[in-house]
Amino acid sequence: MRSHPLVVLAVLDAFPHEQLDDALTPSLAALAREGGAAPRGGRAVLSASTYPNHATFVTGATPAAHRIFTSRALQNGAFVPAQDVGPQVPTIFERCRALGRRSVAVVGDQNLIGVCGAGAADTHWPPDGVLDDDAPRGRLGFGADRGVAAAVDGVEMQRADFVFLQLDEIDTERHLHGVDAPESREQCSATDAAFGEILERLLPIWDEVVVIAVSDHDHEAVEPGAIDLAAACRERELDVIIDHDGTAAVVVGRVSDAVLLALPGVTQCAKLDLDCTLVWGDPGQQFGIDWGLRAQHGSPRTNRQLAVVGGGHAAAGELAARIRSQPPHATRWAKWVAELLGLPDEDAGFRSQ
Ligand SMILES: [Zn+2]
Repeated sequence: MRSHPLVVLAVLDAFPHEQLDDALTPSLAALAREGGAAPRGGRAVLSASTYPNHATFVTGATPAAHRIFTSRALQNGAFVPAQDVGPQVPTIFERCRALGRRSVAVVGDQNLIGVCGAGAADTHWPPDGVLDDDAPRGRLGFGADRGVAAAVDGVEMQRADFVFLQLDEIDTERHLHGVDAPESREQCSATDAAFGEILERLLPIWDEVVVIAVSDHDHEAVEPGAIDLAAACRERELDVIIDHDGTAAVVVGRVSDAVLLALPGVTQCAKLDLDCTLVWGDPGQQFGIDWGLRAQHGSPRTNRQLAVVGGGHAAAGELAARIRSQPPHATRWAKWVAELLGLPDEDAGFRSQ
């Protein structure tokens, strides 16, 4: 018998908190009955998009610390693909390794291996974040849920102390069809079934397991067309760099809020770091390129996350009580996972807020 629970942190990418439902998502609903769910969901870090929130889930740090602000990371004054650099603070995978705890990561979005620094796990899939040509893919090219469900058999989940999972296809279907489309609801149900299939592998040791199921962001409907803020800033000769991110953009440079709020389409802004500001517009406004998608994320309107805890271990009930009383912020999960695993608090350089 292990001295601490086996902790599963599963991200159902873009799962809308309000669609947690007995009939539509029976696996999630059963987990929530066993432990609990945050009544109004959890809260994302900004930008409310995939890579900043995944980096936060595995570090507990905000984007200001892990440096992944959008789909890209800010490094030496330039935006680079987040999967090329990973988080700039220690991850749970590294902290597990330091203590001899076994961690595994299986993700649908192959880039998340690099984004989350999951190469430091004892086992990860897809290997080096590269999806085989014959692996099943969702319609935006990321690994399909059924591929993830199949891959967990290769990582010996039952022998792990920490399991990190990501199922990608709800995000794809909501981008393509919209937030309320039948296809999007059907995908919630299909992803829930794949998730349930994965959890079934743990039933023989269920009383040793704590399962945390979250999503990284919500979506919002968008209007056709997008504003190129980088071009607008060049026209105004502003000394900034811009990274567009769906219904938001990140502006790096010393500019006043008044200057930012005078940019086309921008109606609100929020500081992310000293010289780094998130800007966004009215509902429906996209920035950068119009990819022809029906729904997007990025702005704080899409910051709601799924937050469910279950499992047969007694610690599941204790953690569920915490999230019932207060909406969990994305930065909290890594700290709670570390507590459950008995990882030493605040390793050198580990920052959580
Ligand atoms: Zn996502």
